[in-house]
Amino acid sequence: MPHRPGRHFLQIPGPTNVPDRVLHAIARPTIDHRGPEFAQLGREVLEGTRSIFKTSGPVIIFASSGTGAWEAALVNTLSPGDRVLMFETGHFAVLWQSMAKKLGLDVELLPGDWRHGVDTAQVEARLAADREHAIKAVAAVHNETSTGVTSRIAEIRRAIDNARHPALFLVDTVSSLACMEYKQDEWGVDVTVAGSQKGLMLPPGLGFNAVSEKALAASKSNRMKRSYWDWEEMLKANPAGFFPYTPATNLLYGLREAIAMLHEEGLENVFARHRRLAAATRAAVKAWGLEVLALDPAEYSSSLTAVVMPQGHDADHFRETTLERYDLSLGTGLGKLKGKIFRIGHLGDFNDLMLMGTLAGVEMGLRAAEVPYRPGGVQAAVDALSQPGVESRHNTAVLVP
Ligand code: PLP
Repeated sequence: MPHRPGRHFLQIPGPTNVPDRVLHAIARPTIDHRGPEFAQLGREVLEGTRSIFKTSGPVIIFASSGTGAWEAALVNTLSPGDRVLMFETGHFAVLWQSMAKKLGLDVELLPGDWRHGVDTAQVEARLAADREHAIKAVAAVHNETSTGVTSRIAEIRRAIDNARHPALFLVDTVSSLACMEYKQDEWGVDVTVAGSQKGLMLPPGLGFNAVSEKALAASKSNRMKRSYWDWEEMLKANPAGFFPYTPATNLLYGLREAIAMLHEEGLENVFARHRRLAAATRAAVKAWGLEVLALDPAEYSSSLTAVVMPQGHDADHFRETTLERYDLSLGTGLGKLKGKIFRIGHLGDFNDLMLMGTLAGVEMGLRAAEVPYRPGGVQAAVDALSQPGVESRHNTAVLVP
């Protein structure tokens, strides 16, 4: 590819832009992963990640993508043939359930329209009807990256409790962690699955499992075969800051830096910044006369916005146009949404002017690709971001959706 001047706009909903501080932290010599310098790094990142998941329990870090962390969550807690209740909220939820099936689990997938999050009343009714407690785990995706729809994790927990059901609660936060409020302990989540390449502002390559005591107890008696993904060896080595095999040392340097950056900004401010940029994005979409895929404002994602393409127009052709003309990468439609939507990522290391550049690129792309739209989306976002009382420097204020 010939050189393209200026900065590429990587506005897919992950992997996200890696900030210079993280890149510099990674660009250091790799050290002996069995030596004292590593032990210090290991202890710092293993301790620091707990504050991001909001847990006092262990967080296990694999050299893996999010898919690996999905597998680890299942194989450490369940036995072949166990029933798992899952929800068809979008492409990633469907992929996780197909993995569960391949692993020999008995998946019950509650159907969905890919425009709503998990129906908590349905969860409660289904669990209440399961008098024999055949369902061993409830597994939900917090933020469906394929649709820009969130599910209300605290309310799913309440539904499980209301039904007085002992199922484990597994949650995928691959595209919500460090973007939206998340509280592993307070929300009674047993295993939280995450990855490095989205809200944590790192390159791809780390997968996480935050583990409750109940999940740990399950891992001692469950019967699923596992080796690489086994928590046990990790939990033996981690307290001293070590890993049972070669860790992704340089990504851990980056993780240490990213955790420090998140705390310097303050997690609440990080969440408020994401909410604010998401609200401005939706203001732009509305002004263009286009439709946001998420139907319930209470379920809008702060990490990304999925935009429905007008009938007869191919979203991927539009995306090709923004890439070719403006060096802007937007997210493609996944699974059954292919060609029908495009996704604007506004997560991770991202600020007002990066959003304005992104939205200008989308508006120019709509014109260039001859997609019918009303001009004025960029202006609507400027207005949204400039509302009186909205603190722009630290982005702490919250806009009503
Ligand atoms: N879960 C969600 C919500 C995701 O968005 C993704 C990837 O984008 C995954 C799981 C799978 O993660 P990975 O692609 O890192 O394996």
